[in-house]
Amino acid sequence: MKLTRLRLVGFKSFVEATDFLIEPGLTGVVGPNGCGKSNLVEALRWVMGESSYKSLRASGMDDVIFAGSGNRAARNTAEVALLVDNRDRTAPAAFNDADQLDVSRRIERESGSTYRVNGKEVRARDVQLLFADAATGARSPAMVRQGMIGEIIAAKPQARRRILEDAAGIAGLHSRRHEAELRLTAAEDNLSRLADVLQQLD
Ligand code: ATP
Repeated sequence: MKLTRLRLVGFKSFVEATDFLIEPGLTGVVGPNGCGKSNLVEALRWVMGESSYKSLRASGMDDVIFAGSGNRAARNTAEVALLVDNRDRTAPAAFNDADQLDVSRRIERESGSTYRVNGKEVRARDVQLLFADAATGARSPAMVRQGMIGEIIAAKPQARRRILEDAAGIAGLHSRRHEAELRLTAAEDNLSRLADVLQQLD
């Protein structure tokens, strides 16, 4: 899977619809302080399912919506769309029948976020797993935030292990195992209730 285009509308300082083409090879973003370089990386993490507004330098998720500046009024919605080239068919099975995945996240003030993949509404979790499996999710070490190297050096062994697991692309497996364990517990509860009912009938 390769990321080929990032589109932002109303996200932080990107009030107008802005497209960034991600060409093969190395891409650099340069610009003066405060021009929005970090906002771009945050937009990538946000569309990949980042759920912590603190890690987006915000005091609430609505803070990612353009808040107005000078003579420009604030917006009520923000949207980020990421185009993913899936010709190598490495997306998870649920999304693997398309050559291109158009993954988008939209937020409306006080109404929360909605996610879509190729126009179809999906859960935040589906998008998080899609990128976690590709070892490039919102929390993955493929995205190096300011101060992150220092955090890794100071991290406790368990936290450092999580970073290595994210890099190896197995973070999604842990999450799926947890879900399977919850389903197993629920099934065991049902079985024991059934056994009680059968005993009463006997
Ligand atoms: P530096 O080089 O100093 O790290 P940068 O290019 O990474 O800067 P960013 O930190 O991405 O810049 O952008 C900061 C700018 O984004 C600030 O001008 C800030 O006012 C603006 N900004 C952040 N959130 C919003 C928002 N919700 N609405 C409007 N503008 C915003």
